[in-house]
Amino acid sequence: MDWDALLAADRRHVWHPYGPMPGTVDALPVVSAEGVRLRLAGGRELIDGMSSWWCAVHGYRHPAIDAAIRDQLGRMAHVMFGGLTHEGAIVLAQRLVNMTPEGLEHVFFADSGSIAVEVAIKMALQAARADGSTSRTKLLTVRGGYHGDTFGAMAVCDPVGGMHSLFTGILAEHVFAPRPPDGFDAPLNPAWAAAVDDLAAQHAHELAAVIVEPVVQGAGGMRMHSPACVAHLRDVCDRHGLLLVLDEIATGFGRTGALFAAGHAGVTPDILCVGKALTGGALTLAATLCTPEVAARLATPAAGGALMHGPTYMANPLACAAALASTQLLLDGGWRSDVPRIEAGLRAGLAPAADLPNVADVRVLGAVGVVQLDGPVDMARVTAAAVERGVWLRPFRDLVYAMPPYVTGDADLARVCDAIVAAAAAMAEAPAPG
Ligand SMILES: *Cc1c(COP(=O)(O)O)cnc(C)c1O
Repeated sequence: MDWDALLAADRRHVWHPYGPMPGTVDALPVVSAEGVRLRLAGGRELIDGMSSWWCAVHGYRHPAIDAAIRDQLGRMAHVMFGGLTHEGAIVLAQRLVNMTPEGLEHVFFADSGSIAVEVAIKMALQAARADGSTSRTKLLTVRGGYHGDTFGAMAVCDPVGGMHSLFTGILAEHVFAPRPPDGFDAPLNPAWAAAVDDLAAQHAHELAAVIVEPVVQGAGGMRMHSPACVAHLRDVCDRHGLLLVLDEIATGFGRTGALFAAGHAGVTPDILCVGKALTGGALTLAATLCTPEVAARLATPAAGGALMHGPTYMANPLACAAALASTQLLLDGGWRSDVPRIEAGLRAGLAPAADLPNVADVRVLGAVGVVQLDGPVDMARVTAAAVERGVWLRPFRDLVYAMPPYVTGDADLARVCDAIVAAAAAMAEAPAPG
């Protein structure tokens, strides 16, 4: 394999996430992956501290997931979902209804997290028309959120950290409440609660729903807030007749220590988005669930009578098979001890970072460990420092963090933590000349 030529072609022709064209840095070439290790061209191995953007919770090439996909491949890779159905989709829908908070009964399969959010927003906006009113066209959300890169989803991302300035006048305008105060263990902050109450009261006539990531805000800044904030938002929705949409695309399937983060708050949303870890990182699949009340509102003529969405690859059978295997592994229960074990390992392993002069905060919840610096990271330096220690990290903004696979062993986890601390330390040193 002539990797020099391939990488030159990669830079010249292939977009990478949030990247320029032509590319300015070489991506690392991965030839295979197994367990928690990525194998690079040339034979070098890296421990993946990212779970491939938070998806590969059981590690790579998990035999049960791979076998399920292979098995399904022997029957059919795909079939359209309009007018046709298949066993995998039906059984997976039943399982998601059973796994997710009580009350969510209906499942719409989407092909990515962003689309699951689009569908959730569309559900909420359609449902708001059930009584014939057309004025409830906005959502309330909190600052610091991330919900995806499509236009509907972008519009509810953090208005400063997101892409709002790039698309002023194009993105739908929604109502932004302050970011929930930091601290998983914090009691409900009365000032924050009052600010949310005021905004909701002021805008209730034009609001259809509230949308938030419960307990952990992911790509918007890796911040953790109290379940009491989520419970308060449920209460606000109930008082004003708004739907509560919880985006658990990042937090779902055990990542925060509860199967779903809504569980920390004992809250059932009206609409729930799941994705990322749904297939254990094997294939792209997401889902939007809702209550019978929401479905009944959509069924009214004023709301359109049906949910107006239907992706070409909806409920892809290979992805459903992977999701059935991945969710079965979760139901088997290993995550219940693995996630607290990883949480303890992250707390111990990242603690030394708090002594670095350029570290603003160290925080851990479940299998999420974050070191926040006092300024933006230099991606190249941080990545190089981690790779030098045999670990794959993908920092962003001022954050060096890990969301490791649940199957990461203690020794590997310690190496991930060492790499994060070393990467943070590398940022404290004077930049290399040039
Ligand atoms: C990643 C993410 C999305 C978007 O999912 P994609 O599959 O990347 O489209 C939406 N919401 C949250 C909370 C996410 O973490």
